[in-house]
Amino acid sequence: MSKGSKSKSWQPATVAVHGTGKRRKAYNAVSTPIVQTSNYSFESTSEVWEFMTAKAEGRIIREHEYGRYFNPTQQEVERKLAAIEGAERAIMFSSGMSALILTVLAYVKKGGHVVFTNDCYRQTRDFANNWLTKFGIESTFVDPSPEAIEQAIRPNTNIIFTELPTNPFLRVLNLPAIVKVAKRHKLLTVVDPTLATPYNIRPLEMGADIVVQSATKYLGGHNDLVAGVALGGHALLEDLNKLERMVGATPGPLTCFLLERGLKTFGLRMEHHNRAGLAVAKFLEAHPKIEKVWYPGLKSHPDHAVAKKQMRGFASVISFLVKGNNKATCRFIDALDLFFITPSLGGSESLVTQMAVMSFFDYTKEFRKSLGIQDNLVRIALGLEDVDDLISDLDQALAKV
Ligand code: PLP
Repeated sequence: MSKGSKSKSWQPATVAVHGTGKRRKAYNAVSTPIVQTSNYSFESTSEVWEFMTAKAEGRIIREHEYGRYFNPTQQEVERKLAAIEGAERAIMFSSGMSALILTVLAYVKKGGHVVFTNDCYRQTRDFANNWLTKFGIESTFVDPSPEAIEQAIRPNTNIIFTELPTNPFLRVLNLPAIVKVAKRHKLLTVVDPTLATPYNIRPLEMGADIVVQSATKYLGGHNDLVAGVALGGHALLEDLNKLERMVGATPGPLTCFLLERGLKTFGLRMEHHNRAGLAVAKFLEAHPKIEKVWYPGLKSHPDHAVAKKQMRGFASVISFLVKGNNKATCRFIDALDLFFITPSLGGSESLVTQMAVMSFFDYTKEFRKSLGIQDNLVRIALGLEDVDDLISDLDQALAKV
């Protein structure tokens, strides 16, 4: 039975099927069993005594103790996610946001300061502005460039946090340059590559300290679960592990099963997403009813050169401006047959979001404008449908603009 060593030379698609290698699972099952229990019992008081003594000495004599800490289905997925990412360790969470929030809380210092890049998931910004401030933690949002990040660093900064690519404008930062800045100032680099996945980008190999991402999206891949993951070095992640176990932001066993099952088609799905994303982005860019397209695989994207260097493919999130006002944009969205109107991305069904209405509705118009969120800004996340069908659907809906 192979364990661990082979996976180093396997491609992500193979690792997504086999994890670190063929492993015997409970009942010799080939798929991963769902262990649906909240407690793990002891045979006798002497077994409890032995377990507690070993634990106090830092020895593990049995892995499972209580459901809030982790469950066996979760451990299988964590091993697989770590192998796909090439990380020493993965910790799963109940959502991408719980992974992200607890990571910042675990590593920010008392009175600290975090530098975020300003094009980002709305809830990440709200966490910094509405919650970190309550604990006396400052944050600054800056343009996604190494220069702007370095300028924002203060004596109390200890984390640089960026999405890669960013959401919704898919900015692709020069990560090695940012890591250099971080190392010069002794800061932790935390990267959220949810929109790319480890299939397309490898932040840890480029020097990032921790990767956090939503597994709700491409990793799960079927629009049917909510989960998150943090990945990095074993020792570094220990504090985060302790905090997660205390909070209990652990995913349930069924979620872990669905994620592990979804990962088996990760390679196939990402190949499709990369191909579909590029084809649809090119179609939109050439369409007379489209004003502008943001997709890192297009030459017109401001970070195309960096993206080509750092990414294997560009996945299937595309942002664009419809040529027209709010009403024309709504007509286009309502005419789509294959796209569900909802946020999120990375699943089997294609999704569409009018950013000003769905994700940024309660911000003032001025603030939305400062973030580049116009009424005619649309973000689509392609699913696994046939690419020609997707293009035909977009084409007939654009005719209604
Ligand atoms: N990070 C990015 C870039 C996202 O787009 C999202 C959600 O859309 C999240 C994190 C949060 O993930 P979740 O919804 O799993 O909490």
